[in-house]
Amino acid sequence: MPSTDVSEAQANHDWLDALEQQLSPGSVLRPGRDDLDAYETEWRGRYHSHALAVIRPDSTDALSQVVKACTQAGVAMVAQGGNTGLVGGAVTRGDREEVIIQLGRMKAIRRVDDASALMVVEAGVPVSVAQDEALAHGLRLAVDLASSQSATIGGILATNAGGVLTIAYGNARAQVLGIEAVLADGQIFNGLSEVRKDNTGYSMKDLLVGSEGTLGFITAASLSLVPAPKVSATAWVGVESVDQALALLKVIRQDMSDHLRAFELIPALAVDLVSKARAEQGLSTRVILDSASPWQVLIATDSSDEKAPLEERLMESLMAVYEAGGLDDVVVAQSQADAEAMWVIRESISDAQQIEGVALKHDISVPTPLFGEFIEATEKGLLEIVPGIRLCAFGHLADGNLHFNLVPPEGKPKALIEHEAAIEDYVFDQVAHYHGSMAAEHGVGMLRRDALAKRSDAGKLWMMRQIKQALDPKGLFNPGKIL
Ligand SMILES: Cc1cc2nc3c(=O)[nH]c(=O)nc-3n(C[C@H](O)[C@H](O)[C@H](O)COP(=O)(O)OP(=O)(O)OC[C@H]3O[C@@H](n4cnc5c(N)ncnc54)[C@H](O)[C@@H]3O)c2cc1C
Repeated sequence: MPSTDVSEAQANHDWLDALEQQLSPGSVLRPGRDDLDAYETEWRGRYHSHALAVIRPDSTDALSQVVKACTQAGVAMVAQGGNTGLVGGAVTRGDREEVIIQLGRMKAIRRVDDASALMVVEAGVPVSVAQDEALAHGLRLAVDLASSQSATIGGILATNAGGVLTIAYGNARAQVLGIEAVLADGQIFNGLSEVRKDNTGYSMKDLLVGSEGTLGFITAASLSLVPAPKVSATAWVGVESVDQALALLKVIRQDMSDHLRAFELIPALAVDLVSKARAEQGLSTRVILDSASPWQVLIATDSSDEKAPLEERLMESLMAVYEAGGLDDVVVAQSQADAEAMWVIRESISDAQQIEGVALKHDISVPTPLFGEFIEATEKGLLEIVPGIRLCAFGHLADGNLHFNLVPPEGKPKALIEHEAAIEDYVFDQVAHYHGSMAAEHGVGMLRRDALAKRSDAGKLWMMRQIKQALDPKGLFNPGKIL
């Protein structure tokens, strides 16, 4: 904040006092009076800076009022949902006056339409709550991620989140029929379409989805739903290499056709880190495989046809691959508890890496058939930068998307910090060489902004800047993120 004079600063914030008077009680949290820390700190603790206020509107009209007031005062606005984003998009930058607009009070599920298989839901609804509501209607919201309990509908749309169901249903964008949003001048975009076909000019919903709060604040969405699963089968498989996992994927895709829901690659190191980290928290972790396969795969299938013999088909398919020498070991879950024990491991990987010190994380995609070659070549290059560096690449192999994470050499928890820039450059050079993406599903935020500016196609950057200028001419919506 440029001003050092307290009374002048106070006077400058009269607009905020007035706004607070107009909004419903509890809408404005102020430093000194309220504890803002949880809103100001990014989920991983990597970014923290102070906000002028945290504003929690309880309706679209209230948000419109907030945006108008902030725009008039020239104060920047950062949208925040569950604050689970991994690229520093939902917190302030600390280089100017900014308010955080937290959408958690906009939590109504406006309606679920069984006949049309859709729901209209507000931005602050946690994903898991929307999932449960859909299930209560015999339907499924086809987005699922390890952060579903905290991540919000607004957040998953603003980041076009992926997750474990992308292989079957696509990213969050694929579920969207319509969007309601508040635009940079405070006007409301009433785009809550419920139809599946609408070619009336540019698709503004598609522009807002994935724009990370830089073009408009999403207040509600109409989302298309799919039939809820009635049966499922889950397996954990050990393989020798990523190429072997890819060969297995090909077979499972053919044999299980449209029932494949998740195919998650997990390195043995991740399994070790999870059991170690959970043990520190006093939690036990099921040992799934007897063999020490270097790579493992979690496979999930399901069907809305309760008679579909998924378990038999999955078992048959896996045994055929096993007998042909295409995998080391396999365990098919015999109960819901078995399946849950497998998912606990997968969903604990993100957090567990911290136990070995400061890990470096990259969310990348590469054309799926090239992943084995990419990993082998990139690991070799990384070992030349930091001898002993350990690869913890895990995630959505079937989408060609892995969380390409790097864990420090054993006993050297801070060994990667001084090499962060060199490592990032090298990994992204490799991604470019293999024609992949350096930001596959988490987005750009603050974390990848400079890398995007350096590496993006010039034409794409030009179009993005034109769009930003047109929709947010004063640059007050999440400044310094993406661009
Ligand atoms: C354990 C864990 C696992 C994860 N797994 C996955 C995964 O598998 N796939 C994946 O894609 N991501 C994953 N993530 C990342 C994160 O959960 C997603 O990016 C999620 O979409 C963020 O939702 P949120 O509500 O927390 O948004 P926030 O973190 O609050 O915000 C994210 C971005 O969206 C903007 N934003 C938020 N709400 C709005 C709104 N209403 N209107 C406009 N802009 C808004 C923010 O300004 C910010 O730029 C994971 C995170 C964790 C912690």
